[in-house]
Amino acid sequence: MHIVVKELKYDVVIVGQGPAGSSLSYLLRKSGLRVAGIDWVDWDHLWGKPCGDAIGAHHFEETGLPEPGDAVMQDVEGIDIYSPSEEIRLRVKGKGYMISRNRYGRRLVKEAMDSGVDVFLKTRVGTVVMENGKLVGVRARGPDGETFIFKANIIVDATGSGGSIRRKLPQEWPVNEPLKKTDASVAYRRIVELDYDIEEPEYIRIYLNQKIAPGGYWWLFPKGRRTANIGLGIQGGRGFPHPAQVYRDVLMKRPDVGREVKVYADSGALVPTRRPANTLAWDNFIGIGDNGYTVNPIHGGGMGYAMTAAKYAAKTIIEAFEKGDFSRYTLWAVNTKYMRTLGTKQAGLDIFRLFLQQLTDEEIEWGLKIGLMRAEDAYDTSVSGELKANFSVLDKAAMIVKMLGRPSMLLRLKTVADYMKKVKQLYMEYPDSPDDLARWVDRVEQVYREYKEKLGITW
Ligand SMILES: Cc1cc2nc3c(=O)[nH]c(=O)nc-3n(C[C@H](O)[C@H](O)[C@H](O)COP(=O)(O)OP(=O)(O)OC[C@H]3O[C@@H](n4cnc5c(N)ncnc54)[C@H](O)[C@@H]3O)c2cc1C
Repeated sequence: MHIVVKELKYDVVIVGQGPAGSSLSYLLRKSGLRVAGIDWVDWDHLWGKPCGDAIGAHHFEETGLPEPGDAVMQDVEGIDIYSPSEEIRLRVKGKGYMISRNRYGRRLVKEAMDSGVDVFLKTRVGTVVMENGKLVGVRARGPDGETFIFKANIIVDATGSGGSIRRKLPQEWPVNEPLKKTDASVAYRRIVELDYDIEEPEYIRIYLNQKIAPGGYWWLFPKGRRTANIGLGIQGGRGFPHPAQVYRDVLMKRPDVGREVKVYADSGALVPTRRPANTLAWDNFIGIGDNGYTVNPIHGGGMGYAMTAAKYAAKTIIEAFEKGDFSRYTLWAVNTKYMRTLGTKQAGLDIFRLFLQQLTDEEIEWGLKIGLMRAEDAYDTSVSGELKANFSVLDKAAMIVKMLGRPSMLLRLKTVADYMKKVKQLYMEYPDSPDDLARWVDRVEQVYREYKEKLGITW
């Protein structure tokens, strides 16, 4: 049989048109570069990966991407965080939206296409094309079974944590960095219509409960008065049950969850919940979004950070074309831009995540009860990546008496705060050149080893 292979040449090929890839297509639409965006889904399934659909309002301003407009299904005023007993509630204020991902994604892709980006949907990238050890393109199968070879100076992997491109690159390339199971959350969600009116739909709810969602949390995010996105994320690699099973066996028995009239969507996926990948770039290659592990390690939100990674990637790509150099040395700029800003915060939060994942329900309940973490502390911690527990109260006599019953907790908190600072500092010292990456990675890994040993974390 004779196979016809169609070869297409671009400046930049972006594989994946989810939040990361379509943001990049949008941001490059007026760059004058020849850009191709590829995704295996069709128009109606763009941004189709299961998600909680919640996004902070600040991401749009920070990235210059269009406001969600008619994609908003519910304005969000803040997050209610519930203790395991649900007797304590922290109300963390902050504006955001519950969105229709498909509607917003379609808008970005359409605007990119209208400005000249070529978007190939229903097109699956299977392999990378290497010539003399250099990444020069990708090979894909189109909607009618035709074979395409897309060639470009820069190939962007925006295919999510599965890393369709990244994991096919040579093993010795540091971008080919596997995701440890315990550094990911197995998440599942349903979008449902309920038979009751949700009170205060402008507050999304997070429930901390290690019995229901070990190493993660379960959520109820209203998308209007009667519709909600409900789901849970459970830490991977530790033998915990699958979240879909917990949803059926436990959550469905709750009166606020089980009273479904209609199920609009029902599926799960993996969320990387670790510090950012050691590098987002190598020769002729950039990986962004879940692909570069840019998700917030504490709450698992990744859309906004995928958009930020796209912003830095767009700048780096434009600079690379101005220089006419697509080697790791030029593309490194995406790392220095990302790691020394968001990356440092996310790395700090990763240290905090490891601590939270080994707490018992009793310890969480107790910490919230004595006011060790207040709503403003939760907010400040998530924004800064530094532990903002209510340390001031620890000086007060009453608090010291309360803490006396749990001296190990006091010590652990101190360790957590110290290591959050240490890791943040290391990310601020992210190397200027790829030649120094290996040494820097050794330092980071050493700090993680020490920290885990101090907290007795064996996974
Ligand atoms: C259950 C759940 C709840 C979540 N809740 C939230 C939340 O409330 N808020 C939030 O901000 N984040 C949330 N996240 C995380 C968020 O969904 C991701 O961080 C975000 O979607 C990452 O965007 P991305 O573009 O990097 O990857 P993806 O969304 O995974 O997009 C990757 C794209 O690449 C395409 N693709 C993959 N392989 C190929 C291939 N070989 N060829 C062609 N195309 C390919 C896919 O079709 C897809 O369109 C949640 C995740 C889960 C699983």
